Amino acid sequence: MKKILVTGANGQLGSELKELASQYAQFEWVFADRSVLDLSDLATISDVLDRIQPHIIINCAAYTAVDKAETETELAALLNHQAVAVLAQWTKFNGCQLVHVSTDYVFDGSSSVALTEEAPTGPINVYGQTKLAGEHACLRENPEAIVIRTSWVYSRFGNNFVKTMSRLMQERDSLNVVNDQIGSPTYAADLAQAIMTIITHSHWQGGIYHFSNEGEISWYEFALAIQEIGGWECVISGIPSSDYPTPARRPHYSLLDKTKITTTFGVVVPGYRESLEKCMGLLRINTN
Ligand code: NDP
Repeated sequence: MKKILVTGANGQLGSELKELASQYAQFEWVFADRSVLDLSDLATISDVLDRIQPHIIINCAAYTAVDKAETETELAALLNHQAVAVLAQWTKFNGCQLVHVSTDYVFDGSSSVALTEEAPTGPINVYGQTKLAGEHACLRENPEAIVIRTSWVYSRFGNNFVKTMSRLMQERDSLNVVNDQIGSPTYAADLAQAIMTIITHSHWQGGIYHFSNEGEISWYEFALAIQEIGGWECVISGIPSSDYPTPARRPHYSLLDKTKITTTFGVVVPGYRESLEKCMGLLRINTN
């Protein structure tokens, strides 16, 4: 029986994989949070992996605080770059398969068409720089690794835009949301399903792949969809990013083209609206 190690087990994606794992009982699952595998402790990573001896690693752990990364640069680089290099090296030398997760923030946002895996990168914030360095290290150390870039991740687990907006829309009369950052959200449960499809596919093909939900929207339009589904009365206004300064700059356009992942592995890409309804339905059940 193949053993699969999931790092960052308590994050959004790790938690969604945990939910799905019971449907994939042909694998032995090991879900590791940082108490089991602390990726900031580079010297101990290989020892932990030697003990667990996984056949596949799904690396869901990362430094994901985009704004804080501007000042916690070293920690962000340690987790998003150096630790990934160690993981990839271990997988290469131990014949282990690796699925690593990266971000649309490796792009500079200057495109106006959906970004393929070959589109030029050029991160405009520290988080994106460390994630891009992680991609390079990953594929340099283990060219057979699969790197999945995703964007705007939300889930019923953890903190995210959907949960924050849902709360604020019930607390406030009005809200401003940026309308000049365009992309597509990703329901972490859909990404978890995509990963399951890949690891159960008959052919493993290393390289970079893009995955998000289908649709091309701004954060403002995403907020409107959340409001419509939630049925909350709150005035939502679209504002430019320049009216909402943040420590880290964000790309203005980072829509991911999903053609490669669908044609290579037959991954299904649900529309953002249908997935948002699913997630908010589950959140409603949990809060009632
Ligand atoms: P989360 O922030 O929800 O989860 C990240 C996980 O990493 C957490 O469980 C965290 O543990 C863990 N972690 C942090 N530090 C360490 C450490 N030193 N050792 C081990 N684990 C650690 O992220 P998501 O699930 O949203 O993201 C999954 C992947 O998707 C990441 O690679 C991320 O970069 C990428 N991504 C995410 C986007 C988003 O909008 N969230 C957008 C695009 C890409 P703890 O819970 O203890 O803090």
